[in-house]
Amino acid sequence: MTELAWLFLLLPVAVACGWLAGRRGGERRGGARVSRLSNTYFRGLNYLLNEQQDKAIEVFLQIAAVDKDTVETQFALGHLFRRRGEVDRAIRLHQSLVARPGLSDEQKTRAVLALGEDYMRAGLLDRAETLFTDLVRMGVLAPQALRHLISVYQAERDWAKAIEHARKLEDAGGEPMGKLIAQFHCELAEMARLDGDLASARTHVAEAYAADSHSVRAGLVEARLELAQGNDAAAIRAFERVARHDIEFLPEILEPLLACYERRGESARARGFLLEMIEHYPGVSPVLALTRIYEREEGKGVALEFLSGQLRQRPSVRGEAAYIELSLRDADSDPAVALKTLKQITEQLVVRTPGYRCQRCGFGARAHHWQCPGCKSWGSIKPVHGAVSE
Ligand SMILES: [Zn+2]
Repeated sequence: MTELAWLFLLLPVAVACGWLAGRRGGERRGGARVSRLSNTYFRGLNYLLNEQQDKAIEVFLQIAAVDKDTVETQFALGHLFRRRGEVDRAIRLHQSLVARPGLSDEQKTRAVLALGEDYMRAGLLDRAETLFTDLVRMGVLAPQALRHLISVYQAERDWAKAIEHARKLEDAGGEPMGKLIAQFHCELAEMARLDGDLASARTHVAEAYAADSHSVRAGLVEARLELAQGNDAAAIRAFERVARHDIEFLPEILEPLLACYERRGESARARGFLLEMIEHYPGVSPVLALTRIYEREEGKGVALEFLSGQLRQRPSVRGEAAYIELSLRDADSDPAVALKTLKQITEQLVVRTPGYRCQRCGFGARAHHWQCPGCKSWGSIKPVHGAVSE
């Protein structure tokens, strides 16, 4: 929790202390005690801000002992106990708050919510589930309780219930849950696929798409389902869609997709797709895949020409290795030309690779700086030792 959040958490305590001070001042007695109490409070706050939780707990226990009616102090203590991992203490404290007569409805439901959070922290998921379900049924603190319930069902891998409560959270005015619901349906689809229930797997894939039309995972599960049933054409559509929705997944799908194209003899489609990917994907994988197709269909000369042109724009060590291998296999390749090409690509590679890197934040720099421009720490930038550096 951030310090700001702690300040907010303790705001009610500050108000309670101020109120106490006012009440006692009005009664014209115990002035010394009042100032001692507020001094104590600010001492506790100070410890909190300095992350000295042990001392903060000590101080808040003192406040709680002086005035047993300050419920907010109890809440602050409960938070501190849980935060320090003293879950048993937090549970006892919140249980006594729940059982305490004279609490307002709002305080009581907050105590139930806090107790549920303790149970979750202690791994007592059944008890947590019962409390959160009660809160949802009563219609109080429903978004918080629903968020916790979704976590409980995820921990229990009860995806159907996780979906049901994610929808309830959306209806209760919480954040959009489409991406999460799609993940849960994909979990169900994977389980159904492993059980051999392909029809049910397909239904869950469709529901995942309905929840998140750009779900990459739904595309991957769909493609795997189609592959398992020998539907290469449908698998190609699913794989292509994955890459178009999130191009970072291209390396994940390239190999099985290329195998599908090959089985169906769809070389023109493969070329078109790879050219499209090369435009958007900065890595070398689609270039290497297209080079192999050119070599097979147009000959080694055309493949070498294409590869060297691409590597000048996106120099890479893997690309150079492929270039050397192809040159060695090509009887017509002129070694002098190949070496000259490699020299140019290597120079590009050196120019583009940062020679220095911050060891704290990873900031890459062409020249040495004593203070890192990224994280502002001193003396953390060092020369890089790697494939193309000193
Ligand atoms: Zn840095």
